[in-house]
Amino acid sequence: MATDLRGVGGYFKRLLAERSQEEIEQDLKPSQENMPPRVPRGGALSPITPEAVERRWQVLEAEASVKHPLLDDMTRDQMPLYSKNIENFIGTVKLPIGLAGPLRLRGLFARGDYYVPLATTEAALVASYTRGAQAITQAGGCTAAAIWEGVTRAPVFAFNSLIDVGKFIMWAGEQADVFADIAASTTRHGELLRTRFNMEGNHVYLIFEYSTGDAAGQNMVTIATDAVCRFILDQSPVKPAYWFVEGNHSGDKKASHLSFQNVRGRKVTAEVTLTPDILGRQLKTTAERMLNFYRVSAVGGVMSGNIGLQGHYANGMAALYIACGQDAACVAESAVGVTRFEPVEDGCLYASVTLPNLILGTVGGGTGLPSQNACLDILKLSGPGNASALAEVCAALVLAGELSISAALSSDHFTRAHQTLARGPAGAKTSQSGDHS
Ligand code: NAP
Repeated sequence: MATDLRGVGGYFKRLLAERSQEEIEQDLKPSQENMPPRVPRGGALSPITPEAVERRWQVLEAEASVKHPLLDDMTRDQMPLYSKNIENFIGTVKLPIGLAGPLRLRGLFARGDYYVPLATTEAALVASYTRGAQAITQAGGCTAAAIWEGVTRAPVFAFNSLIDVGKFIMWAGEQADVFADIAASTTRHGELLRTRFNMEGNHVYLIFEYSTGDAAGQNMVTIATDAVCRFILDQSPVKPAYWFVEGNHSGDKKASHLSFQNVRGRKVTAEVTLTPDILGRQLKTTAERMLNFYRVSAVGGVMSGNIGLQGHYANGMAALYIACGQDAACVAESAVGVTRFEPVEDGCLYASVTLPNLILGTVGGGTGLPSQNACLDILKLSGPGNASALAEVCAALVLAGELSISAALSSDHFTRAHQTLARGPAGAKTSQSGDHS
């Protein structure tokens, strides 16, 4: 990253106004004096006990006013339930949950009127998604389709020469069924669907793609892939010099150029057509203004080097993921996709979103935790058989958010909504004025 020289000079001047250069240098030097106590261990492999939690709080030497909000009575009662999800447990953070909706959805898997729980501290977010959801519902609902699924793990094998690479690929090419059987021996719900490879010099990345049932699947595919790799190490006619179970070629937790080439999790698309009446009454805009805004934001996105074309998928998605026990870091790859607005006859607006990388699940991960499971229950989507429906709800929610933010920006209501809802008097936050971003 290039930095402006004059700006850096000003920054250093401000720093040196407060501390001398010698003091700063002293502060920045590594020091092994007075090493702090380690955090008392515990988690994944051992149940969470009140004693271990207390030992950690002793390390912190925190006031009761710090400890109590994190370790309240309910958290104390429920702490054993968290033992497969956290290490070094000290408590829980409370987040406000708002309901967005109703959101009518006509999907391949999700059909009905959904009230979507969103966990966020961003004022205006729930109001905005509610406004978009209501527009969709007034239009009779959006159509949605979860059309494909697959989760990748990409181990890498480093060989001594290209000749070894050739021998390895010749052998591996004959092993597809064996690899699938080994993967199947590690999971009842995962299936190795296909194996591809990518060669770089004398390195070979194997790209294993799995279906993962109703789980998001990252642990599942890691465990299955590890078993296949052990077989490779044991049986391959050429041994790699070294290997790693993941070579950073799966797109795990980052937006990447893989985002539109593969599916990661579930690929879902959702669409709706809004009439001028709904655009005017519910969204305070017109199709023409929405399309003008869409065009400039598409160009702005290209000039910014964005991957995909969208306004703010991460906003509602992160709030939904957190509420429903998903791995929030997966928003990095899940919030990639394409929003499209098209003019339709009689002043109507066609809007669609396509998300090729929705990593989410209704079993496993954090989905069984008390409040997260309750949020899935609000959607009536907890447990087996519901992951594709949850993916469609997520896509529909994202569509609602795209409509609402575009409407707010296209009709110049964006700033006012944030000013009113985030900065205005407390009472103003309860208003559903319809101007939210
Ligand atoms: P998981 O909770 O580790 O595994 C899912 C479990 O649910 C499996 O034991 C599976 O059994 C079982 N299951 C029961 N009914 C199922 C159904 N209908 N469909 C699918 N599975 C069913 O969760 P995961 O989804 O594999 O992994 C998600 C977690 O991995 C998240 O917490 C995420 O934070 C974390 N993560 C891990 C990595 C990694 O590299 N390891 C990377 C990123 C994130 P079977 O296994 O017998 O099928």
